[in-house]
Amino acid sequence: MARIFAITNQKGGVGKTTTAVNLAAGLALLGKRVLLIDLDPQGNATMGSGIDKREVKQTVYHLLLNQARLDEVVCHSESAGYDVLAANRDLAGAEIELVDQSEREYRLRRALEAAAGRYDFVLIDCPPALNLLTVNALAAAHAVIIPMQCEYYALEGLTDLVNTVKKVKAGLNPAIEIEGLLRAMFDPRNTLAQQVADQLKGHFGDKVYDTVIPRNVRVAEAPSYGLSALAYDKASRGAQAYLQLAEEVIRREEGRQHGKA
Ligand code: ADP
Ligand code: MG
Repeated sequence: MARIFAITNQKGGVGKTTTAVNLAAGLALLGKRVLLIDLDPQGNATMGSGIDKREVKQTVYHLLLNQARLDEVVCHSESAGYDVLAANRDLAGAEIELVDQSEREYRLRRALEAAAGRYDFVLIDCPPALNLLTVNALAAAHAVIIPMQCEYYALEGLTDLVNTVKKVKAGLNPAIEIEGLLRAMFDPRNTLAQQVADQLKGHFGDKVYDTVIPRNVRVAEAPSYGLSALAYDKASRGAQAYLQLAEEVIRREEGRQHGKA
C-alpha cells in the first residue's frame, strides 16, 4: 500500500517543489515505486521532472474534475524513474470550478484509491497557499512533510500550518499526521539559521529530519534541464543530501510499519 505524503508549506520559495522532485528521484533510485503529483498550477514539479507542461493533454486538473481516471493522466517518465501526474495553468481554474461540486475536498483522495497498490510512495507537491488544492492534498495524504528555511519568521508560519493540519485532522482526515520537518536550503555559516534549526529541534524533536539539505547551486540548476539534482549531478552535495533524505524517509517508514506489526 502506498504511503502518501503531502509536501506542504503555505510559504513560497521554501523548497517544496525541489524536495518533491528530488525525494521522488531519491526514492526511485533506491528501488521504490513512486508517483509524484504536481498540485501547483505553476507546474514546476512537472517541468523539473522533464515533462513539458504545455504539451500534456490530460493533467491533475482533469482528474480533480472527474474528467479522467488516474491511469489516463499519469505520465511515465523513464528518465526520471518515477511517474508524474502533471499540472499546468489549467489547474488555476479548478478551485472555482469545483466550488459547487460535491465532495470537492476528496477528489484527489478518491482518485488515489485506485493507485494504492501500484506505488510505494506518493508525493504531492502543494501550491504555496492553504487553498482547496492544498486541502485536497491534506485530505488524501497519510502525513505531511514540511520543508522550511531556517529564518526568523519560519517558526511563526509553522504555527499556522500546524493549526491547519489539526483542523484537517478534526474534520476531513482524522488519520493525518505530521511526518517530518525538513531544514531545506540550509546555510551552516549563517548563525541565525543555526539558532532557528536548534529551536526547531526543541519544538518538534524527532519530527525534524536528521538530514539537512544544504544550499547548493547544482540543486538550483537542475530544473532548467528538466532533471532532478540526482540525475543532473549525483555527486553534488545537494543531490547526496536528498539521497540521504530518501534513506531516512524509508527508515522511518520501516520503523512505523514495524511498530504497527
Ligand atoms: P517552493 O516550491 O516552496 O516554492 P522551490 O523548491 O521552488 O520552492 O525553491 C525555490 C527556489 O530555490 C528555486 O529556484 C529552487 O531552485 C531554489 N532551491 C531550492 N532548494 C535549493 C537548494 N538546496 N540549494 C539551492 N537552491 C535551492
Ligand atoms: Mg513549488
